[in-house]
Amino acid sequence: MNYFNLFSNILVTKGVQRILIIDLQREKAKLYPLELSDIIEELKKKSIKNLFESYDRGSHEFLREYLKILLDNEYGFITKDYWDNNFPPFSYKFSTPNEITNAYLEIDDLHVLSQLNKSLSNLGAEHIVIHYDNFLSFECIQFIENTFKNTTITSIEIFSKYHEIFNEDFFEVIDNFCSRIYSLAFYSCNKNPFKPKDKYKFTVAFVKEQIKLNSCGKVDLKYFNVNLPKVLEAINHNSCLHKKISIDKYGNIKNCPSMYQSFGNIKNITLEEALNVKDFKNHWNLTKDKIEICKECEFRYVCTDCRAYTEETNTNNEGLDISKPIKCGYNPYKAEWEEWSTNPLKEKIISKYGL
Ligand code: SF4
Ligand code: SF4
Repeated sequence: MNYFNLFSNILVTKGVQRILIIDLQREKAKLYPLELSDIIEELKKKSIKNLFESYDRGSHEFLREYLKILLDNEYGFITKDYWDNNFPPFSYKFSTPNEITNAYLEIDDLHVLSQLNKSLSNLGAEHIVIHYDNFLSFECIQFIENTFKNTTITSIEIFSKYHEIFNEDFFEVIDNFCSRIYSLAFYSCNKNPFKPKDKYKFTVAFVKEQIKLNSCGKVDLKYFNVNLPKVLEAINHNSCLHKKISIDKYGNIKNCPSMYQSFGNIKNITLEEALNVKDFKNHWNLTKDKIEICKECEFRYVCTDCRAYTEETNTNNEGLDISKPIKCGYNPYKAEWEEWSTNPLKEKIISKYGL
């Protein structure tokens, strides 16, 4: 008898209406009807023949189609007999030796970076996002690159104001020395900017709107991440705040610059000390499985869990907000996307956040 064997790197996430199948090795995800999840479960216990026998003849055509989907996408393979020498189960553990992996820095004065770089390196941070609401000159970019030379930081993403100086020559020159900066986004750009070339070591984007701090946290299909470490981190920890440290423009040390709670100020304590302040890590293990609504959504392991802007409807026993992110328009009960910003039910909270 023939048996279907699911590869252990295939993660099936069940939602209310649909399932998301993630091929963790190929880092690809696809949506399917809910019933495919039951068929996959049955195929773990029954032969293909037994599966067909357990359904009436009228359902055989759709069973054949589902089997074809599983094989065409290489989610598994067929063996002649029951293969009890099954693949070892995939480990869904997540671990990293770094005390901090990423930092979100809202800064007015770039010299603050010289104060922070040593601490960030001590903590093992690898990725930083800089939100600099000023004009970023050639010297500023050079300063940022030099500040993080010989540190643990390997990638830098920058959001800053647009200026007319940004032209091809400007980016040609900075391309010569940029090694850590991989993304530059310039906002409040009211002109038709030049088209950046693909050949730079970094990406350049110009946007008309002002990117404010509260522009962060939007939930959309285009931001979903099926990269293996990110999925494993989301299964075990909070997909945004785990191992993140932030400072706001006043120097307050926080989980995210948009959150209210501060754990000290860089004028008085170091980042290393702030990390040990009670409650700093409270959100780190708040997975999507504990967030209302999200815990029933098929996208819960690929989506960012914003804790700064939520619907503020539920808190858990420890007093942590476990409400759905407000900037998500997905309804897992209907499997439909709608515009969250015009939802009348969210009007009050949207205005509270000033979104
Ligand atoms: S908590 Fe929300 S606003 Fe803060 S960094 Fe995460 S996604 Fe962005
Ligand atoms: S925020 Fe929640 S409901 Fe929205 S897509 Fe993510 S997991 Fe689903």
